[in-house]
Amino acid sequence: MYQHYSMFNSADETYRSIFYHHPIPMVLYDPQSFNIVEINEAAVHLYGYTRIEMLQILFSDLFSSSDFSRLIKSSNDGQYEALMQQCIWHNFSKNKHNIFAKIHLTDIIHHGNTLKMATVLDVTSKTIDQENSKLHNDKYQLLTEDTFDAIWDWDLKTGHLKWNESAKKMFEIQDYDVIEQPGWWSANLHPEDKKRVEEKLVKNIAEKITHWHEEYRFKSGSGNYKYILDKGYLVYDGNSTPVRMVGAMQDLTRTRSHEKMLQSLNDSLEKRAKELAESNEELERFAYVASHDLQEPLRMVTSFLQLLEKKYKNKLDNKAQEYINYAVVGAERMKKLILDLLEYSRVNAAPVEKTDVDLIEIMDDIQFTFRELISSTHASLLYENLPVVKGNKTQLSQLFQNLIENAIKYRSEDSPVIKISFTEDLYSYTFSIKDNGIGIDPRFYNKIFIIFQRLHTREQYSGTGIGLAICKKIIDKHSGKIWVSSKPGVGSTFYLTIPKS
Ligand code: ADP
Repeated sequence: MYQHYSMFNSADETYRSIFYHHPIPMVLYDPQSFNIVEINEAAVHLYGYTRIEMLQILFSDLFSSSDFSRLIKSSNDGQYEALMQQCIWHNFSKNKHNIFAKIHLTDIIHHGNTLKMATVLDVTSKTIDQENSKLHNDKYQLLTEDTFDAIWDWDLKTGHLKWNESAKKMFEIQDYDVIEQPGWWSANLHPEDKKRVEEKLVKNIAEKITHWHEEYRFKSGSGNYKYILDKGYLVYDGNSTPVRMVGAMQDLTRTRSHEKMLQSLNDSLEKRAKELAESNEELERFAYVASHDLQEPLRMVTSFLQLLEKKYKNKLDNKAQEYINYAVVGAERMKKLILDLLEYSRVNAAPVEKTDVDLIEIMDDIQFTFRELISSTHASLLYENLPVVKGNKTQLSQLFQNLIENAIKYRSEDSPVIKISFTEDLYSYTFSIKDNGIGIDPRFYNKIFIIFQRLHTREQYSGTGIGLAICKKIIDKHSGKIWVSSKPGVGSTFYLTIPKS
């Protein structure tokens, strides 16, 4: 390779060979002109120049100007020996990659001239490793300080456990001495969780499982137990021996206590709902039995009153006649109430068999049944293209019947116009029954669906206040909804939904 060595004559053969083949890069230069006089193979390899190129540049070209002046200054101060040990010079190679090198400068007398020999120790990869690890440590430090989690770092060889600042807050502890004592963590595990958690940890280490996570209760400085989610990672050395475990603890106390509160709230709600359902069932059974059984004695009262009126008509004075009349009217009203109540209880009592119900057919039937009422009030019932829905035919026909009857009963001075229409989406039909009657004050939108709740006296409008309660019950049974929207003096629209499946 090096055929023409300018530096060495044949007597210097041994030195020449040592110089050129030495693994440490060496550069010989003139300290006055900084001309490079000679370089070895290792230097050519390090800097990436050819040997010829290197002999044409200056030694100073290998450095940034600031680094070069620092180098020269330290060598002139005579301190460079010491500095060589500590200093890392920032160097530039031909292709401009940074080379970090320790430079050692030695004077060499050659043919009466003083030259400088620079030996260049390449420390690039070591420096980059150190910088990276510093960066990594800085980031780790920032991360552990900037979190609410308690971060721990357990040296498995020494048993020493280190914590971040948040750990003190989480466990309500004043100083690290306490939490860094061996056995502190284990001593504060909840007695019911201790065995499980420790066994799992030991098993993980024994079986060299890298990831460990466990939830447990842990006693804080105040003596209260906290719910902790602990996640750890096991680090192994080159011989696959676990040497370190790092992890983070998250305080789940608030979440768990909210969950507990919600659970107990849920439990009591469920209990209450069950109690209500039971008492509802009981009430309905009672209403059914009562209304059913009341009919017989009521029939007796009515028929004996009628008998009394018939047989003793001439023997009774006007006052007595009047009292008997009141009693008959009262008994009739009671009969109506009992029949309505029976009707109401029947909605729940009967099992709902659902079939395809053609609503046009239902409307035609209603129109026929109420033909006299419709013609005497000059009412118009408008409907067309109504769909076939899944439901109980008897109940649905009762539902529409009640709503149409009401629309006629609560009419204004105008002839009633009742329009039945619908919209649909993917899941359900929404029907509207719109009238031009007296309307309902928005304050009573909910009240009217409650059993026996009426907005008028019997003298104004007949009724028992059970019709809409029955409608609501029927719609509930069909998993739908019913509501009203109205303008007093203009009219009301009752809406109801019926699911498609
Ligand atoms: P009832 O008609 O026997 O009183 P309902 O349960 O059918 O019982 O109705 C409850 C109340 O709702 C009625 O007393 C009436 O005031 C009001 N209401 C029902 N339908 C209408 C309607 N279409 N227009 C105006 N008010 C109505």
